[in-house]
Amino acid sequence: MQSFLQFNPTKLWFGQGQIEQLAHELGTPGKKVLLVFGGGSIKKNGVYEAVKQQLDHMQAEVFEMSGVEPNPRLTTVKKGIILCREHNIDLILAVGGGSVIDCAKAISIGVYYEGDVWDIITRKALPTKALPFGTVLTLAATGSEMNNISVITHWEKNEKRGWSSPLAYPAFSILDPEYTYSVPLDQTVYGIVDMMSHVLEQYFHLTENTPMMDRFMESVLLTVMEAAPKLLENLHSYEHRATIMYAGTTAFNGLLSSGTDGGDWASHQIEHGLSAVYDIPHGGGLAIVYPNWMRHCAEDDPSRMKKLAVAVFGVDPAGKTDYEIACEGIDALRHFWNSLGAPNCLADYGINDARLEELIHKSFMKDQVGNYKIMTRDTVRDILTRSL
Ligand code: NAP
Ligand code: FE
Repeated sequence: MQSFLQFNPTKLWFGQGQIEQLAHELGTPGKKVLLVFGGGSIKKNGVYEAVKQQLDHMQAEVFEMSGVEPNPRLTTVKKGIILCREHNIDLILAVGGGSVIDCAKAISIGVYYEGDVWDIITRKALPTKALPFGTVLTLAATGSEMNNISVITHWEKNEKRGWSSPLAYPAFSILDPEYTYSVPLDQTVYGIVDMMSHVLEQYFHLTENTPMMDRFMESVLLTVMEAAPKLLENLHSYEHRATIMYAGTTAFNGLLSSGTDGGDWASHQIEHGLSAVYDIPHGGGLAIVYPNWMRHCAEDDPSRMKKLAVAVFGVDPAGKTDYEIACEGIDALRHFWNSLGAPNCLADYGINDARLEELIHKSFMKDQVGNYKIMTRDTVRDILTRSL
């Protein structure tokens, strides 16, 4: 195990009715709040009303910015920065899924940066100050509600970039599983794939002697795999929505990678290339890429995939080679995701090899892609070709 600092300043309010904590989190009456949300789901499912009630109770002066896209765009971040400056905003409140929260993170640091916020997103400049922001989560998937990571797309350049900063943790996040009842089946599945992928990305690390972390990760995967099919049968089950919601947060709030090298994350980079060019849902892209990344890596060294296959997918290792065990586990993962209705290959999104070289190029938006296995253009080409 490596030495580590465990630090997460986000205050998490979890459970039915926790929206009442919003008034408490606002602290003093009369604050100027920028309410950031997406395409309107919160107006249909009652979340907007519940949030407004709390804001009204605290006599907040509310300015709204709606229309944050799934795969949020730089142009939208810039609109939010202008609004914050124009109205002297005290607090940003993101109400939505990962896209809305990621957008709010970029707005909060962009307000105090005089140059182009893209400099920070592309890691050319470091943020020094951020406007406080909180979240009301409506979709279980990314973990953005309790981490300091944000992913923003520059659509004109077809670049999707992840960035992080110690200043980018939400001050508070309110998670009411009932707010996710209205998430449609497909988005529920994408969320499940995304949170499982976050665990897997961290599971494929190179650090020796990490039994605590390995078992934490195995338990998150097992729990999600137990709850997910039951949830899909009843999207209004509080019990299963709550399990999946907390799993999504736990999957990516820093806990699981304490003491490890942090994991691999090449599949996320490859997926970012795919959504940057084709604007597909993040979880859908991961469902296609992740098992192919695993297959690719198992051919070099199946040891970690073998461990996962036995611990999580119940593969019986008797009489099999490590590679055979690993492959059975990878097939079980793919089968599980497909059984939920996740896509299987890029053709499911109508994507063929026409822009393959561009996709490879867009995967290399960081100096190093992958850590468990460091990727080259040829290895990414192999994974994408398997994914067609
Ligand atoms: P999302 O893009 O925030 O939302 C997807 C769709 O779900 C939107 O159309 C949204 O509609 C709808 N939706 C959200 N809540 C709903 C509800 N309660 N009822 C009905 N519909 C609802 O999805 P996401 O998977 O949470 O976020 C994906 C983004 O996060 C991607 O850009 C991905 O790359 C990024 N990401 C970030 C991290 C991180 O750590 N920061 C990690 C992984 C991925 P409305 O717009 O109408 O609300
Ligand atoms: Fe993700």
